[in-house]
Amino acid sequence: MQNNQDKAFRIQIKGLVQGVGFRPFVFILAKEKGIKGWVENRNDGVVIHAEANEKEINSFTGSIISKAPLASSISEIIKTETDFKNYNDFQIVKSSSISEEITEISPDISVCGQCLNDLRHQQHRIDYPFINCTHCGPRFTIIEDLPYDREKTSMKEFLMCPVCEQEYKDVYDRRFHAQPVACNNCGPEYSLHSNEIIISEVLEILEKAADLLDNHEIIAIKGMGGYNLSCNALSNLAVNKLRAVKKREQKPFAVMFRNPDAVKNYAFVSPAEEKSLLSWRKPIVLLTLKNKLAEGVSNGLNSVGVMLPYLPVHYLLFNKLKTDAIVLTSGNFSDEPIIINDEEAIKSFSDKTSAVIVNNREIVNRTDDSVVFIVNESERIIRRSRGYVPNPVLLKFNVEGVFAAGAELTNCFAIGKGQQAILSQHIGDLQNFETYTFYTESIESFSKMFRFKPEIAVCDLHPDYLSTRFVQHMKVPVVEIQHHHAHITSVMAEYGLDEKVTGIAFDGTGLGSDGHIWGGEFLICDLKDFERYAHFAYLPVPGGDKAAYEPWRTAFSLLRKVYGDKTFDLPIAFIQNLNQQKAVTINEMLINNVNCPLSSSAGRLFDAVAALTNICTVAGFHAEAPMRLESAIQKCDEKYDFEFYDCSINFLPAAEQIVNDLIKKVPSGIISAKFHNTIVDVCVITAQKIRKDTKINKIVLSGGSFQNRYLLEKTEEKLLINKFDVFSPRKIPCNDAGIALGQLVSARKKL
Ligand code: ZN
Ligand code: ZN
Ligand code: FE
Repeated sequence: MQNNQDKAFRIQIKGLVQGVGFRPFVFILAKEKGIKGWVENRNDGVVIHAEANEKEINSFTGSIISKAPLASSISEIIKTETDFKNYNDFQIVKSSSISEEITEISPDISVCGQCLNDLRHQQHRIDYPFINCTHCGPRFTIIEDLPYDREKTSMKEFLMCPVCEQEYKDVYDRRFHAQPVACNNCGPEYSLHSNEIIISEVLEILEKAADLLDNHEIIAIKGMGGYNLSCNALSNLAVNKLRAVKKREQKPFAVMFRNPDAVKNYAFVSPAEEKSLLSWRKPIVLLTLKNKLAEGVSNGLNSVGVMLPYLPVHYLLFNKLKTDAIVLTSGNFSDEPIIINDEEAIKSFSDKTSAVIVNNREIVNRTDDSVVFIVNESERIIRRSRGYVPNPVLLKFNVEGVFAAGAELTNCFAIGKGQQAILSQHIGDLQNFETYTFYTESIESFSKMFRFKPEIAVCDLHPDYLSTRFVQHMKVPVVEIQHHHAHITSVMAEYGLDEKVTGIAFDGTGLGSDGHIWGGEFLICDLKDFERYAHFAYLPVPGGDKAAYEPWRTAFSLLRKVYGDKTFDLPIAFIQNLNQQKAVTINEMLINNVNCPLSSSAGRLFDAVAALTNICTVAGFHAEAPMRLESAIQKCDEKYDFEFYDCSINFLPAAEQIVNDLIKKVPSGIISAKFHNTIVDVCVITAQKIRKDTKINKIVLSGGSFQNRYLLEKTEEKLLINKFDVFSPRKIPCNDAGIALGQLVSARKKL
């Protein structure tokens, strides 16, 4: 009955509100608070018609915001008074599609605590490895199209049993409209393939898998977004075998631990790191090692990528396992994308592993495990995939129809939908054919899912990037954005900055607008344009791109700048250990300027110091030399000298001081610390010069070199002490995976 103070409000909610249990949450909340009316799912969000007195409606709206389901995210709530209809209850009304706008697609969510409990108590789901509910389970990896209904996911193959169907239809049940709902009687199943034997009983599979892992064997197991290879992370024998299977790949392996206590036995965990480890996104968190895992896991680095179980099958497996830690790495070879197809997995892994564990639920969208680290208490993402994609970046202006192709290594592309930039999952190195195929297929599937029609395309200045070539075949106008400008504008997009800032972009390589290779850049820029205020002095890099894997080349070039022909006489191990024949060739190349492109790259400078100190002269994987240099740091607050000429920052004094330290047998960890402190100093002094000239106080940090935790931590700290406003990437990778977002916003501003 209407109270004469009752009013009616239309509450429109935008953001990630579908596939995360939002409507039943609103329904139950409305019942609790005595609100009458209805809630409706539409393709552009959720709309509520709420009738009650104004105070109650305000309390209802407040609770929607404060108690919203974990994986949901509200970007906008619009509340307007509307006609009072005098409803006598609250209902969920049938979905309707009323506009071209689309709702967000939820990322995949790690299994929730209530489901883990159901695994032990719910009759039809005892030990069921695909258990899920509206709060958890697969989303992006199983979705083919919108709207998010079971028919448009790879769950369409599985007919719900009457029990599941009843739960699915019951608004008071945690599985109300949980699209992937399933149980032991009706859902997908695992099977284990080993030497012609196939096991299909789940407990037998888990026992066999645990037995193999505890006995130093390798298995392949289908995960959320692709196959993983796994072995006991405490067994040298097993880890060495896995290295051989991965074609001797030297990148550190990620490790899944049984629980947080097990993690703490092997790594230092701060409260912020623990928060990331435990979050529903369940990323790999880079931690500093405390006690040794098997030698080959981190390959001599002092850090390890750690994650906790996120699928029901992980928990079930640890119930059977003796070891507290297993390596869980992408099921692929070298730079190929993670394998998602069952036949391919069986074909690829059968003769290399002791068992391949497949399941009959198709992976529609491939994802890798995401990787984050914590610096200055904040989570920074460096590989953005499972659990994060396809969450959009919300912008302050419209970017509809803009396609951003991204860079070449660590590629990720982006599409513009309204005021949202939607970034693809981590794609990888486009020079690999299979990865390039993954790139083009993902562009197709994103275009379909998000109803995206490109009107303009954006690419890097580099004409040979495969992403650049890709857009040239699209029949739309193309805009080119300089690599380091895009690095900075990606961060500006993340923070909604639209003004002049000082951008510090440090990375390995990117084509500059003068035709040289850039990477140690101080830009004064806004979203649209940039001016190169200062940069690291150019250094000839013998062999160009080859130097990224042979840091000794850049080190030699740096020494030659300081010592000329006397370089060969320096009494340091680096020179004495050089392959004389190769060194003579490089020397000739430098003298005659043959294949020695000029580079201002910070990455190459870090390479050079890693080689000079003999920490890493030849790299086995991308950025190995800077990673080892960082890993070697010992505590020391001293620094080296550099010179500032015009707009060029010259490190020759530092190089000379490093050589002197080497002669004096100063430990390489101290040299590394002094070098890092020098780079921090360069950032602060240059930022101060710019502030003096231009009054700009906002500093944006970006580029792959800021994956260096020491560099990022100290640079932020020192800039803050000097009263700068500092913006560094958090939700978007600072490496080349962030380029697409920067391209997207800059191109929009240019047109
Ligand atoms: Zn759940
Ligand atoms: Zn069922
Ligand atoms: Fe870059």
